[in-house]
Amino acid sequence: MISDASLSHAHEEHFCPYCKTRLSFCNTPPFNVGDGLGWGTDAFFLCLNDDCSMFVNGWKHIEEQYQKASSYRYMQLPGENNGMPMMVGSRIAFTDSVIDIEAQQKTNVRYQREQKARVELKTCVADKNIAPVIYLITDEAANLDSRKKACELLEELNDFACIDPIRNHKFRHTEIGQAANLAISRILKNNFRRECPNCAEIIKLQAKICKHCHKELG
Ligand SMILES: [Zn+2]
Ligand SMILES: [Zn+2]
Repeated sequence: MISDASLSHAHEEHFCPYCKTRLSFCNTPPFNVGDGLGWGTDAFFLCLNDDCSMFVNGWKHIEEQYQKASSYRYMQLPGENNGMPMMVGSRIAFTDSVIDIEAQQKTNVRYQREQKARVELKTCVADKNIAPVIYLITDEAANLDSRKKACELLEELNDFACIDPIRNHKFRHTEIGQAANLAISRILKNNFRRECPNCAEIIKLQAKICKHCHKELG
């Protein structure tokens, strides 16, 4: 995941001084380069133009100097004005590291919502706040332990507002789905209610006729 700090640089326009191509915004590689101190950033700008003179000439230069099949691409760190050559071991190196900025922004928004919900979860019963519980239970990408915890808190929260979002959610994680739906059944039972088998509205446990669909109940 790319940090928001790095993403804020995503729309900067930097151009390669060798070929004038706009630099691509890429993930930094998992390994360190040069000084071994790490990148200090999770994204950087890179010239991915295969016709760039730095890249084209680099093969010969490195072959002569180091007897190695590698070349250079021009790179620049976010927020800096000057770049430097970076050694690449193949033509395709880094071509798959270009960041899908929009997808990344969505991921970050989701992650932040999850973090907020996980904090709110700790006090949700005292606060009578069902929102983080529903959020975590229905976010299939959220942390599994938090989702389980949210299911456990449902009965205690005793809030019918959780019923529709959970009943209508298509659970990919069946264990969470079962736990959440079971909790709803308990909440209904604890409140002497049930769902009408015909219209799914909530009715009294002893009702003979549904007040919503007016059908007779068995
Ligand atoms: Zn270039
Ligand atoms: Zn009904």
